[in-house]
Amino acid sequence: MDRLDAVQGLLFGAAVGDALGVPAEFAPREALKKNPVTDFTGGGVHNQPPGTFSDDASLLFCLAEALIQGFDTGIMGKNFVKWMGEGYWAAAGTVFDIGGATLRAIRAIAQGVEPELAGGAGENDNGNGSLMRIAPLVFYSYNKPARERFDAARKVSSLTHRHIRSVIACFYYLEFMSRAFEGKALKDIYADLKTSLPLALTPLIDPAELAAFDRLLKDDIASLPETAIQSGGYAVHTLEAALWCVLTTAGYKDAVLKAVNLGGDADTAGCVAGALAGLYYGYPAIPRAWVQGILKRDEIAGLGRRLYKAFFHKP
Ligand SMILES: [Mg+2]
Repeated sequence: MDRLDAVQGLLFGAAVGDALGVPAEFAPREALKKNPVTDFTGGGVHNQPPGTFSDDASLLFCLAEALIQGFDTGIMGKNFVKWMGEGYWAAAGTVFDIGGATLRAIRAIAQGVEPELAGGAGENDNGNGSLMRIAPLVFYSYNKPARERFDAARKVSSLTHRHIRSVIACFYYLEFMSRAFEGKALKDIYADLKTSLPLALTPLIDPAELAAFDRLLKDDIASLPETAIQSGGYAVHTLEAALWCVLTTAGYKDAVLKAVNLGGDADTAGCVAGALAGLYYGYPAIPRAWVQGILKRDEIAGLGRRLYKAFFHKP
């Protein structure tokens, strides 16, 4: 796989999955069974125009912009504050959706709190708000040692979500993506992580924390029926849902449509599944009409080129 296609696939994959899900956010799954999302539409609770991505992809782009300048959580925090205050990387220039934990953390950063200490650290602070935006970190960390990969995931998650469970969810997702970036088959990656992830984490965390991930690490998530997959705002559920969608489909389009039609936190499921599927299948696999129809299309393409240049095309 061409690396530029993987970078552009991740960015467009996330934004398109997010935008497909925006009109379906909070929709009950039963309603989507009768009237499934198949394309960009307007309407829904946010009543945005078709092709509008939300906080998920905006913050993911803010992270990508920061990473181009080096690994600096201060720059990441500044970009998040600029997004919330000025609509930086907002699809149409204004912020129309923000999670509670993310709002509190970005306010804290704006007030001078150290970015790596800004996120909530309680067990109830494990919404999917750091998982939804963590994807571009894979290009920074994929070829680094495990301890550095974990440390990077911990720091970047902590800007908004500092509890170890959110950090592990981000780390698991990034480990999956780094192997996908190397071109390994999805099913092999999933099987490999069942042993390699606990091995990598055992010296770094309290292994009891891994219990929350038993359905991924000990069961076979892909064999579960849809009724067993939850799609609310809990980070572990979003991670499970995204992997379930990607592991039970064979292309970008089917994976993201499956994710957003789970309903609930549909845009975030779409974004998390979409970034992974976009990276794995590559930019050319994303339907042209969706790439054409996404807001800020040219800016996203430019960001992808700069991100690629920063990590893979050093002079
Ligand atoms: Mg959103």
